[in-house]
Amino acid sequence: MPSPRLLADEMLGRLTRQLRMIGCDTRYAHGWTDDEIAACARSEHRVLLTRDRALARRTPGSVLLTQTSLPDQIREVRRAIPDLTLEVSFDRCTLCNGRLEPELADAVPPEPAGGAEAPRDRPIYRCVECGHRYWEGSHTAHVRRRLKEWAREATA
Ligand SMILES: [Zn+2]
Repeated sequence: MPSPRLLADEMLGRLTRQLRMIGCDTRYAHGWTDDEIAACARSEHRVLLTRDRALARRTPGSVLLTQTSLPDQIREVRRAIPDLTLEVSFDRCTLCNGRLEPELADAVPPEPAGGAEAPRDRPIYRCVECGHRYWEGSHTAHVRRRLKEWAREATA
């Protein structure tokens, strides 16, 4: 089952990136007013994740987070949304929340200057919004290990 669409407040930047890594459609309310946040949650049917008690109170269905560390926040989100799977998934751009699509081998554009060299032996995913590219590597391996630890702690 797909997780609900989410909206994270400005204090939750790290959590936002983590949720996108596991494939959650998560908008980040960076620099938004409280009115804009409440309106977006309503019109786009997104579950608001917030550390702001007043904002949580005025936004129906929101999840108030009280913890400050990332693993604790992930745990709080999972308590509210139990089907959240802690698996790395190449669905969402961690930078802009755009959808990722597999990049076809014959459509590989020239490398951006200074960009990381993409490996040729594994699938590459490209953000349809900002063009950022993703692939399995040491970073995803690290994130996967960390998620596994958090999942274990969460069920312990
Ligand atoms: Zn992007």
